Amino acid sequence: MFKVGLTGGIGSGKSLVADIFSRLGVPVYISDVKAKELMNSNAELIRALKQEFGNDIYNGTELNRKALADIIFNDEQKLNRVNKFVHPIVRNDFNSWTEKHSDAKYIINESAIVFSSGLHQALDKVICVISPLELRINRVVKRDDTDKESVEKIASQQLSDEERKEKSDFILYNNEEELLVPQIIKLHQTLIQLAL
Ligand code: ATP
Repeated sequence: MFKVGLTGGIGSGKSLVADIFSRLGVPVYISDVKAKELMNSNAELIRALKQEFGNDIYNGTELNRKALADIIFNDEQKLNRVNKFVHPIVRNDFNSWTEKHSDAKYIINESAIVFSSGLHQALDKVICVISPLELRINRVVKRDDTDKESVEKIASQQLSDEERKEKSDFILYNNEEELLVPQIIKLHQTLIQLAL
């Protein structure tokens, strides 16, 4: 199976691009959504997180996101511990999901952390969505009803666009100057050829 990663900084337009690929018939695995689902449904993961951070981070089998966020807030070591539990479970889930889509020409895994999680090593190609920071901030402020500073902080903790560009195989520009959909359709044709 030909596997393609889809990444980009906060608010770059990954979800929008993923949705367009999905409308073109490409199966898309949204890592962030799946990770959240698995934290509420995977018994092994629930057990490990409770053991590490205490039973109070769950209300029954439902993750208390606020409690976990409070624990890992500004604590990189604890965040790394969470990732150490979550990433392998998500990776296994992605592998099983991929097997279920063996009839597809290629599949996409959308994740903000394709490179920092090491996922890129299991992928054939990576697409990166690039948007100017100012535009990304404005879009996320509007989407999440948050403030500029919070978005800037998250952006500053992510890879820079320069680093992402260098590591990626394909770039999609979502910048209000170049039309996005034609870029995606062209790339879709290229990926179908590569996957043959
Ligand atoms: P995050 O990293 O936070 O998950 P993302 O990279 O998935 O963000 P999106 O959610 O796809 O980004 O886009 C951010 C916001 O900007 C959304 O509300 C989306 O609808 C809007 N948006 C993205 N691209 C465009 C565009 N070309 N035109 C209009 N709105 C856009």
